[in-house]
Formats: sequence, structure tokens, C-alpha cells
Amino acid sequence: MGMKIECLVCLKETAIPKNLNTEKYDGQITCRECGSLLQVRLVKSKVEQCKLVMDGKTRFSPSQALEAANQARREGRFYLQDKT
Ligand SMILES: [Zn+2]
Repeated sequence: MGMKIECLVCLKETAIPKNLNTEKYDGQITCRECGSLLQVRLVKSKVEQCKLVMDGKTRFSPSQALEAANQARREGRFYLQDKT
């Protein structure tokens, strides 16, 4: 059975690619539903960490980037982009 991860943006589960090593993985996964980019760390088939790298909406409409970032902050989601 394949592993799934819940997208921080659309809250839908997206499948983790089968060829990915879920015992130890630290990298990015793209949500198949909304196109958002998630930074995930998997250890022993469990999600240790999941951060939003880029909102799918942001990718398709740069003008919504700020709004999306503010929304994420309000909801307590972590934005890597805010660091810089
Ligand atoms: Zn999504």
C-alpha cells in the first residue's frame, strides 16, 4: 500500500511516489491536486515534518503570492519563502 501525505494547502491526500524511499526521505513533493510544493521528511514510513514551499496558486498567479503568504501565516502554516 502506498503512503499518502496531506497537502497543507488543499488538505487533500496526495500519494507519495512508490519509488520513493519512505524509510528515509527528505525532499520535495508536489501535490497532485493543487500543484503546491511541499518539503517533507519521512522516517520509517512516517511524516516527521511537512512544510509548504510554494502554494499552487502562487505558482500560477504571482499576484496572489502575498495574499497566500498572509493567509498561511494566519493559519499558522510555515512558509519557507518568508525566511528571506
Ligand atoms: Zn494540494
